[in-house]
Amino acid sequence: MLEICEIFSSVQGEGWRQGIASVFIRFFGCNLKCKFCDTPLAFKKRILMDEKEIINQVGILAKKKARISNVVITGGEPYIQDFSMLANLLKKDGYFVAVETNGTIWREIGVDWICVSPKRQAMKFLKNGYDPRFKKIAGEFKYVIEKKADIDFIDRSITQPVILQPVNNELRVTKMLFNAIKKSGVPNWFFRPQLHKILGVK
Ligand code: SF4
Repeated sequence: MLEICEIFSSVQGEGWRQGIASVFIRFFGCNLKCKFCDTPLAFKKRILMDEKEIINQVGILAKKKARISNVVITGGEPYIQDFSMLANLLKKDGYFVAVETNGTIWREIGVDWICVSPKRQAMKFLKNGYDPRFKKIAGEFKYVIEKKADIDFIDRSITQPVILQPVNNELRVTKMLFNAIKKSGVPNWFFRPQLHKILGVK
């Protein structure tokens, strides 16, 4: 059994894989409490579902209009729970399985893509805010930027694409980010606002 918050279909609105039609499985709960968290529902709505029920629900949504082949496991923080069986079953069914995590909890689970989004508050217990084992297997890192200290927090040794996401698409932060990217010249930093928030969709 897994604790799920919601399952829905949409377009990936953020990160390196922005723009792909996807089914999202949002897991319940998180081990952090970021003040800018934009998923309060993940702390409120808790549904118990087994893996087969989740796969059925994903299948219904994926086949509703067109064949969606990208599944995003998100939260909350998915790695609180062992979702290895779910990931295996999704992959057996031919889905590309992507996961979004704050990177603080390590489990070896076979997926196709991992987006690690380190948070400054995790520096209390992890250098750089994420488990270093993710550095070898993550496809991308994504940093939510609110102020200059968040830019200073970015791990410069990461070689994967590093997404810089202005908190809530705020114009003040967006301008600051543009200048920071221009000045830094770091080749793997990419500015990406959240498309779903611009469009006002889920
Ligand atoms: S890590 Fe993500 S889900 Fe958890 S509190 Fe922070 S923003 Fe919210």
